[in-house]
Amino acid sequence: MNRTELDWLGYRDDEVIDKRFYRDFVTPETRAAFDAAFRQVLGEGQEGSAECELLCRDGTRLPVAIQATAQVTEEGFQYSRAMVFDLRERKALEARLEEQALTDPLTGLGNRRYLEDQATMEIARAERSGAPLALIAIDLDHFKGINDRHGHDVGDGVLQAFAELARRVLRDGDVLCRMGGEEFAVLLPATNREQALQVAERLRQAIETTPARLDAAEDTLAYTASLGVTLVGGGEVTLKPAIKRADQGLYAAKEAGRNRIEWQPG
Ligand code: GH3
Ligand code: MG
Ligand code: MG
Repeated sequence: MNRTELDWLGYRDDEVIDKRFYRDFVTPETRAAFDAAFRQVLGEGQEGSAECELLCRDGTRLPVAIQATAQVTEEGFQYSRAMVFDLRERKALEARLEEQALTDPLTGLGNRRYLEDQATMEIARAERSGAPLALIAIDLDHFKGINDRHGHDVGDGVLQAFAELARRVLRDGDVLCRMGGEEFAVLLPATNREQALQVAERLRQAIETTPARLDAAEDTLAYTASLGVTLVGGGEVTLKPAIKRADQGLYAAKEAGRNRIEWQPG
């Protein structure tokens, strides 16, 4: 282990040299990958490489790539040389890209893909627990008119204001996302029909009574939304049919005059 690795891990040389094996620093979860690479190097004098995590002295985990080659002579295996690369920056970049792929940049909410990912987990969880799972579809009313009268930037401001308001009204476990345009959806774990209707009504009222604040100016703009409410059915393995039903409820709410909620049974 060289100076750089000691610094990464937070150890002094006298704590490590002649005291511990390199393998001791590899986390149990990634040790199998380390061992496989090591066997490859020993067995065939080949190159071996593995992505592992090292356990630092302060308990943090350091993602690394280890690349090793064996020195093999006619007398057999002599020694191996390994290089270790710090993968922290690459992992952070990957996490950021992954997050961007699931995030709507305007509102910071999850996007449709994010909802689908979350739905896969929540549907499985609801299946196991037997708890109901509700879905609310939301569409802002006459949004085209807001854009036409006040401009696209003001429209964007209203979308951001809605996102902020809905985040405040909903619980932490609720999954709020922007489906696209001025359409949003909320997945509500452990929520039955009555509770979902209450949440939808609470959202509707909050929107009606909380005009969007636009930029630093004191300007505010009132707006409303229509909402469709449904439950994810017991046998449904994707969110698709529930989204369709919630949308049908939404259209019924639009038909009935907007700024209202409609229940859509399964
Ligand atoms: P309704 O009450 O029936 O829902 O009418 P609406 O005008 O809200 O519905 P429509 O679907 O006709 O219009 C949606 C508008 O939303 C049209 C589109 O230009 C606008 N829009 C979509 N995405 C964005 C966005 O990111 N920013 C802004 N400012 N406007 C957007
Ligand atoms: Mg729409
Ligand atoms: Mg609309």
